[in-house]
Amino acid sequence: MKNYKSYTLRNFEEIPQIKKLSAAEKKAINVVGHVLPFKTNNYVIEELIDWGNIPDDPIFTLTFPREEMLSRSHFSIMEGTLKNNSDKNTITEIANSIRTELNPHPAGQHYNIPTINGIQLHGMQHKYRETVLFFPSQGQTCHAYCTFCFRWPQFVGMNELKFAMKEVELLVEYLKEHREVTDVLFTGGDPMIMKTKILSTYIEPLLDEELWNIQTIRIGTKAIGYWPYRFTDDDDADDLIGLFERIVKAGKNLAIMAHFNHPVELKTETARKAIRRIRATGGQIRTQSPILKHINDAPEVWAEMWRLQVNNNCIPYYMFVARDTGAQEFFSVTLERAWKIFREAYQSVSGVCRTVRGPSMSTTPGKIQVLGIEEINDEKVFVLRFLQGRNPDWVARPFFAKYDESAIWLDELKPAFDKESFFFEKELEEIFNEHVYDDESENFE
Ligand SMILES: *Cc1c(COP(=O)(O)O)cnc(C)c1O
Ligand code: SF4
Repeated sequence: MKNYKSYTLRNFEEIPQIKKLSAAEKKAINVVGHVLPFKTNNYVIEELIDWGNIPDDPIFTLTFPREEMLSRSHFSIMEGTLKNNSDKNTITEIANSIRTELNPHPAGQHYNIPTINGIQLHGMQHKYRETVLFFPSQGQTCHAYCTFCFRWPQFVGMNELKFAMKEVELLVEYLKEHREVTDVLFTGGDPMIMKTKILSTYIEPLLDEELWNIQTIRIGTKAIGYWPYRFTDDDDADDLIGLFERIVKAGKNLAIMAHFNHPVELKTETARKAIRRIRATGGQIRTQSPILKHINDAPEVWAEMWRLQVNNNCIPYYMFVARDTGAQEFFSVTLERAWKIFREAYQSVSGVCRTVRGPSMSTTPGKIQVLGIEEINDEKVFVLRFLQGRNPDWVARPFFAKYDESAIWLDELKPAFDKESFFFEKELEEIFNEHVYDDESENFE
């Protein structure tokens, strides 16, 4: 039994290994940690980070703030604010203003809020026909925070079973009215932060025969990477495995959508044991990660990661292009580089690893894969296609954008061959005009 111990800004000086850091590195954690999310735990510290390789260690970089993650000016603004012993409200205000500047795509990301009997369901997102995303309110935090992620815990303190039952009632009602939906994807944060008792409150109703349209129950999680004891040693780990078994027995596909950023996360005994236990229930594990500079921007890293996943009976699923990362400059990889890394890694593994798709951008119109760079009629272009589309008819249709060596996202791309717009743009606008929209936080899980 391993007891979970988390560290945040408040107590990180108590981490025994923190002594290995220089004074400047420790200060940077405090300064940057007031802007980017910071939380780590004893498993990450003891079993994943190589403290002989600080600050370059990928998992250190994944969970600990570093000075280079903020621009020089943002860093000095926050540094000054803290030096002046500013009050809590001032610090928060300044942190928020910096965050706003870090998030380059806050507007223009929209989705239709599902409604049932006129009630808007804010904990749900239904963007692609077959799949409903569900954000259980108690699952909106994680066992540790990734420095590249901007999803903060949103529902702290709402730990009431009653609330969960109300939420899931509306979900079930929605799924009965939308028989085209085959998949429910629980996401967060990390739904595996929830106790089994809460999680089963959400899941059991979906196993009812009346919901015959639901074929796959997916759970997006980083827990195998950040706290594998969730599946092995936690006091309700056995109950969790029992819940997974019931999903499979009910004739549903259980798909754990596991978020792994680096091969080291697949090498600990506990992570392997967690995977074995999940797989023994009959559930599948599909894996995904963004491509991130300083963490995994090398083909060997991806090839090793996919091989280890397959060796451990997981199925490589998506490589994402990172966007909306707080520390965008620090982590971002151009589309061209992402494709080259993908291609080189993909070429060096066998077919069983090539279930993976990428590099893929989760954009407003859909998930767009960079298929490659080609020269067509003397024009250098990106070849792209939809893996998921707001209109299912867009999926698997190749299209072209002008080559741009520095582009890191769709909004920087222009249509190739002197076209005025991409083929989907007009229709996308029409879809927008028909529905009610809200801001969208895109999801890696
Ligand atoms: C990725 C994603 C899904 C699931 O897409 P699959 O390609 O089926 O894995 C569903 N909804 C949203 C909003 C997504 O971003
Ligand atoms: S990427 Fe996933 S695990 Fe990491 S902080 Fe964000 S929600 Fe949590």
